[in-house]
Amino acid sequence: MLGVERIIGRKIMVLDEVSSTNDYAKSIADEVPEGTVVVAKRQSAGKGRKGRKWVSPEGGLWTSVILKPGFVDPRIVFIGALSVVDTLADFGIPSGIKWPNDVWVGERKIAGILVESKGEEHVVVGIGLNVNNPIPEELRDTAVSMFEMSGERIPLESVLKSLMFHLDAWYRIFKEDPFLLMAKVRERTFILGRFVEVVSEDGKIAGRAVDVLDDGSLLLDVGGSLKKVLYGDVSLRPLW
Ligand code: ADP
Repeated sequence: MLGVERIIGRKIMVLDEVSSTNDYAKSIADEVPEGTVVVAKRQSAGKGRKGRKWVSPEGGLWTSVILKPGFVDPRIVFIGALSVVDTLADFGIPSGIKWPNDVWVGERKIAGILVESKGEEHVVVGIGLNVNNPIPEELRDTAVSMFEMSGERIPLESVLKSLMFHLDAWYRIFKEDPFLLMAKVRERTFILGRFVEVVSEDGKIAGRAVDVLDDGSLLLDVGGSLKKVLYGDVSLRPLW
């Protein structure tokens, strides 16, 4: 470990390298206070959903926050997504949520959120945000970084500070009034109104994304009938 630091009264564990900040955070979740943050300079086995690889070389913000809400709720992913959108806005970068767990700038992904639970009560919110890290050749068309958008290197610490500030705020709002959180999610979800294809456990379904419901699910208009999707992989149909 590189060290333990404090940002806005919070314990931050800074690691040189770890397989996955989420795995590390889950392993310590029972022993540390709520709000503890794990940050790694590099992840040797960063992961997305379904075990997909998350490329995480030095220069990006690879972090996991330990929350202890006392229950597991699929909407917790949006606490992370909204915090990233607000953080990017602090740095002058407009972005939107690609339901359910990514943040995009234009048509490219800048961040991914991976929420995992530890038992029934503890939750780890993993956030991978491309800041100054290089984007590998094979992801050039689909991924983007803050550096690419702003044209300058941004200190990771200032990004982390902003992210933690927003995360605290959205977590509080979620606990007090989850409908307020979902109203903001609806506002920030850029896929609404667009034709999408969603691959979920029930198979593939295509339609127009109409709404994000209060339970966090996506509502699709499939040839005139409304279908609710709880979770899935969304791909966007081209605009033209
Ligand atoms: P999604 O929610 O878009 O399906 P996942 O959460 O499964 O994505 O994340 C893994 C996928 O994200 C990978 O398959 C790859 O296409 C993409 N990816 C991996 N690393 C990065 C990165 N640093 N920035 C943007 N996209 C990435």
